Amino acid sequence: MKIVRAVSEEKAMDYDTPLPHFNALEDALHSLFGENIKIVKKERIAGGDINEAWGLVLSDGSRMFMKCNEKKNLPFFTAEAMGLSAIAKTGAIGAPRVFCSGTDQGAGGYLFSFLLMEFITNGRAVKNYWETFAYELAAMHKAGTAGLAPGGIYGFAKDNYIGAGKQNNTAYDSFIDFFRECRLKPQFKRAAAYFDERDTKNILRLLERLKDILAEPDAPSLLHGDLWAGNVIRGNDGKAWLIDPAVYVGHPEADLAMTELFGGFPTAFYSAYKEAMPLQPGYEKRRDLYNLYHLLNHLNLFGRSYLPPVKGIIMKYIS
Ligand code: ADP
Repeated sequence: MKIVRAVSEEKAMDYDTPLPHFNALEDALHSLFGENIKIVKKERIAGGDINEAWGLVLSDGSRMFMKCNEKKNLPFFTAEAMGLSAIAKTGAIGAPRVFCSGTDQGAGGYLFSFLLMEFITNGRAVKNYWETFAYELAAMHKAGTAGLAPGGIYGFAKDNYIGAGKQNNTAYDSFIDFFRECRLKPQFKRAAAYFDERDTKNILRLLERLKDILAEPDAPSLLHGDLWAGNVIRGNDGKAWLIDPAVYVGHPEADLAMTELFGGFPTAFYSAYKEAMPLQPGYEKRRDLYNLYHLLNHLNLFGRSYLPPVKGIIMKYIS
């Protein structure tokens, strides 16, 4: 099944061209959509973990999605924009077009940053929604990655964020080296206070053993990077669209593993994905190791309740 989307829409940013930035929301709207454009309705949208989300209706009838946070959080938005644009550029799966970032002054002089993007309106799910999603994700994983991780094969042109945590994307030629140096080690370092001497020995053993546990991918893939159910929304076309990414070039199995971390998707999704993108033997044995990265990130962001699953996975791989 061949699915290709048209994504080269006017005014959408390219992942490697600078995102337009404005010093006032009004300036952004005027510059991008016309001098007379006004916001006629503003609705708060629930569901985000980090940012305030708003649906804006403009005087020409169009809808925009806007995320806001403190001014200092602007780098989160520029990173998110780069990630969404890299996904959109594959032409494989829906991702909202990003228009600009900005800063502005709210009520009482409060300075905030914002990211303005296409509003994704929910449509009725296509027949075979989960299979279609799997085929499109596989198509994204099969898309070329040349130029995405300058100086290497795995990584990304810029560091970004995984939730509120910083994500290092330094380029490496080996995925296993990348996963050790840019995924596990920084999270272990941040979580050092949770571990005693024995844990530290176990962690070092695990890091030394990575080459025996992981496999280099057949080909590098652009990953969403934070692929859980909350980061997939149904678009007007009835298909799955990806939001809130933490992109990098890596092993496609890492995205698949993340979908299984918090509940998983229906079986139809996994069967279709495997049909479109046959897995390397032994994926099930590697799955928890990919997810150790996300659990460590949760440990660092949300605290001690994530320590038992983290220790459980370490022990599983060193015993
Ligand atoms: P956060 O950065 O705080 O995690 P999200 O990216 O998860 O925020 O967005 C918050 C909610 O807003 C999502 O759960 C989703 O329902 C909705 N949303 C996100 N992006 C769009 C969009 N482009 N169009 C419409 N709704 C969106």
